[in-house]
Amino acid sequence: MSTGSDHGSDPVSPLEQALHGARALVLADLVSGEVAEADVVSMVEESVVQRRWWVEQWPDGAAYVAGLVAQDVQDALLERYGRWPLCPVCGADDPHALDVEPELGPDPQWVCHKAGVRVAALGALGEASGRSSGGASAT
Ligand SMILES: [Zn+2]
Repeated sequence: MSTGSDHGSDPVSPLEQALHGARALVLADLVSGEVAEADVVSMVEESVVQRRWWVEQWPDGAAYVAGLVAQDVQDALLERYGRWPLCPVCGADDPHALDVEPELGPDPQWVCHKAGVRVAALGALGEASGRSSGGASAT
């Protein structure tokens, strides 16, 4: 935010942009699920650090980082808190988590494998699970 022009010759690389974007998307979904506690945010940071290393080895994977960070955070949350994000499509009968798809690819989406539907793009979970009940049509 406040990084002025200390490094005038150091433009933000696509890699940094990808990492920054991944972090923002996952945080947006965590906020919408009201699980953005301080230690959850640090899980995201931790994942971003690891994925930075990963994407430095394989710059072509920059587009995949968001989906990977989401899955890292999912795993970390599962150990600490439980399933996240809960599927907003199937109701409360049998709570289950959404999956990131593709696991390794660009443009990650949250999908419910049980209902076989795409629920939301990563970062847009808040819109998809808005409290307003009913239809899933938001064209
Ligand atoms: Zn479901």
